[in-house]
Amino acid sequence: MKIFLEVTLDGRAAILSIDKGRLFYFYRNHKITMRILLVEDEKNMASFIKRGLEEERYVVDVAPNGEKALFLAETSPYDLIILDIMLPDTTGFSICKDLRAKKIDTFILMLTARDDVKDKVLGLETGADDYLAKPFDFDELLARIAALLRRKRLDKSPILKVADLELNQLTHKIIRAKKEIILTGKEYCLLEYLMLYANQVVTRTEISEHVWNEDFDSLTNVIDVFINRLRNKIDQGFKKKLIHSLRGTGYMLKE
Ligand code: CA
Repeated sequence: MKIFLEVTLDGRAAILSIDKGRLFYFYRNHKITMRILLVEDEKNMASFIKRGLEEERYVVDVAPNGEKALFLAETSPYDLIILDIMLPDTTGFSICKDLRAKKIDTFILMLTARDDVKDKVLGLETGADDYLAKPFDFDELLARIAALLRRKRLDKSPILKVADLELNQLTHKIIRAKKEIILTGKEYCLLEYLMLYANQVVTRTEISEHVWNEDFDSLTNVIDVFINRLRNKIDQGFKKKLIHSLRGTGYMLKE
């Protein structure tokens, strides 16, 4: 038996779950989790940046060379790529050029050991969006990332649409068939995630990492509970169901 309570912990909205005598809690997270690809060959630097970004609730993958970087950037959706210039098999400039030639327009923030104007110009010419010289202050890195991600959000329409369901990412208003639907914070995050990846399968693992920013087995059941709540609010009473379960795999939101 699971019990859910919505509470405030350390001044932040959170959800408490009590299951088989064990207590779990998750902070509510209104902002979408951003996925970052960090391309950095220096192990200590990579783990330092990764850890720092994860503390800020970003999801981070690390590529230690150009080959892995290109593979990941072409096969996974990232919101931002942090790209070191000097890599063992190539340069950040060359990766940047390749990605842009392949019409991958993910924001790119270049990192280099040299605060060299020539590098900066070359970086921007090959298609990078911003530039930061090492050594840098971690807060400055965070500020640059936040600025780029804001730019990304502003470029796009804030309204996600699937069939007659609309979600406004700015106002958090949800409408189905012209009627407003009220969701709790976590239900909203889950629906937003499903809508961002509409017509694609999202696995429970992906949901736990992106919506809860946590990765542990006990979430599986929690996700099912929240999916059911969403179904009751989004699909109940409608002939056309939008939330689909894929046995053993996950969920898909589609017409
Ligand atoms: Ca390097």
